[in-house]
Amino acid sequence: MLQFPPSKLPDTPPTIFTVMSSLATQKNAINLGQGFPDFDMDAELIGLVNHYMLQGKNQYVHMNGLLQLREAIAEKVSSLYKSNVSAEDNITVTPGGTYAIYTALTSVLQPGDEVIVFEPAYDSYIPNITINGAIPIIIPLTYPGFNIDWQNVKQNITPKTRAIIINSPHNPSGNVLREKDIIELKQIVQNTDILILSDEVYEHVIFDDIEHKSLLKHPDLLEQSFVCFSFGKLFNCTGWKIGYCISGNGLMKEFRKVHQFNCFSCNSPVQFAIADFLKTDKSYLTLGNMMQRKRDILREGLTALGFKPIPSYGSYFQLFNYSDLSQANDKEFSTELVNNAGVASIPLSAFYKKGIDFKLLRFCFCKKDDTLLMAIKKLEDYFKGK
Ligand code: GLN
Repeated sequence: MLQFPPSKLPDTPPTIFTVMSSLATQKNAINLGQGFPDFDMDAELIGLVNHYMLQGKNQYVHMNGLLQLREAIAEKVSSLYKSNVSAEDNITVTPGGTYAIYTALTSVLQPGDEVIVFEPAYDSYIPNITINGAIPIIIPLTYPGFNIDWQNVKQNITPKTRAIIINSPHNPSGNVLREKDIIELKQIVQNTDILILSDEVYEHVIFDDIEHKSLLKHPDLLEQSFVCFSFGKLFNCTGWKIGYCISGNGLMKEFRKVHQFNCFSCNSPVQFAIADFLKTDKSYLTLGNMMQRKRDILREGLTALGFKPIPSYGSYFQLFNYSDLSQANDKEFSTELVNNAGVASIPLSAFYKKGIDFKLLRFCFCKKDDTLLMAIKKLEDYFKGK
């Protein structure tokens, strides 16, 4: 009889995104749960991938990423963030942002290290810390603004603090970091060995003319930072699973040691295609406007039904408080809506280790206008009929 090994991630069920998407499919519900667009991506980019496949670009490229793609990325971050990073030493192409985050943490964390993580948190951060034997030091974002309480951060710094994870625009709250936050962060980490992991996958999904405060705008922090990005979010193709990480020379060396024995080298025709596309297509610069309109459609529609929106300044997501509509807890209420109204969402408690219930649901609005309108109609019918 096999003596089964102890789990490296005990008490870790399948992610809420998978659970909710499966439930949505099963119930034939509109999926405003998991964050992915339901509209078509750019046909030209698809054509380029096809072109390069037919051209025979189907074998491994360099394990750090196709050089011309890394050069195109260096150009993009230089023009956007005035950041002078080297394609050779500072950029690695990865199979998505989530992978980049895992690899970054795995390449530096030792058992017993402490990592500061803010809740609500994207669901992979804490398991990525614990699987490395490190300890998540969980600090709640303020409620209901979902801001960082920097005083609280300072009080939680110890000699064991190895890293701080930040995420802006923030999943799931839609809040964004401001200049004052970056100044506070800088004061805490400067002249220390504390690393920063900055999840910036929604860098271009930012609204109301707010400027994204990329960590890359601070070259003095690069040596101690990993900054993670996603082409899936940039080009509306989350299923392509392609992104990249930027960090200082020393950290990137360690990152690549882990990366080379895990993914090794990402999908090659996609890298050839994106390298070309990045140079000519700047549609990501208008992504924020397009998504802002969608945010507004959902916000107006659901507000009229009695949901109360929490301001979303970026990301694919809008939180709504539903306490005027139901006293059920958020898991029960999201289950009720997917089963009976035919609309899937994500309960906010899924982003807290201890499952705290604020009566908030996360709705994803990066969907066709028609999808959003249909979801609003279904919810309206459901509440009318109650
Ligand atoms: N980032 C997406 C979300 O928050 C989902 C990614 C995933 O399913 N792992 O909805």
